[in-house]
Amino acid sequence: MEPLKIIEYPDDIVRKRCALVDKITESEIKLFKDMLFTMRHFGGIGLAAPQIGVNKSFIVADIGYGVIQLANPKILKMKGSVRWEEGCLSVPGAIVAIRRPDEIVVSGINEKNKAIELRARGLLARVLQHEIDHLNGRLIIDYLGLLGKIKLLKQSFAYFKQREH
Ligand SMILES: [Zn+2]
Repeated sequence: MEPLKIIEYPDDIVRKRCALVDKITESEIKLFKDMLFTMRHFGGIGLAAPQIGVNKSFIVADIGYGVIQLANPKILKMKGSVRWEEGCLSVPGAIVAIRRPDEIVVSGINEKNKAIELRARGLLARVLQHEIDHLNGRLIIDYLGLLGKIKLLKQSFAYFKQREH
């Protein structure tokens, strides 16, 4: 199995709002598998379909306590607030501190085509919110203020310089 190509900012694909999915059939199950493989290959703990060039509402996550595969994820409830640093495979080199709810309840359709609701806290809640952002074309850099954007530019230059060597 080969990993899929990760689409990186500023490609338009990672800026589009994703279409909802009708139901999970074999091709959607394959998509989940490809996404998980690609996520793991690149050392990620979450991945959204637009990151591999698919404009559909699919996310996967695995922080080490079991795999989550979800279509049409939607946040129903949120609680608490915590600031934490995030990276993104589609924005290489960037680390952004983002304030987000610490606990969420998410609905969606799992890989067995079953409507589910799941409660997540801490890192998993963060990963799910990050991936759901992707489905709305939202990236970690969108949380930056002006000073943060300047700092990010410097970070990116250093990163790409390093990558050239
Ligand atoms: Zn991301």
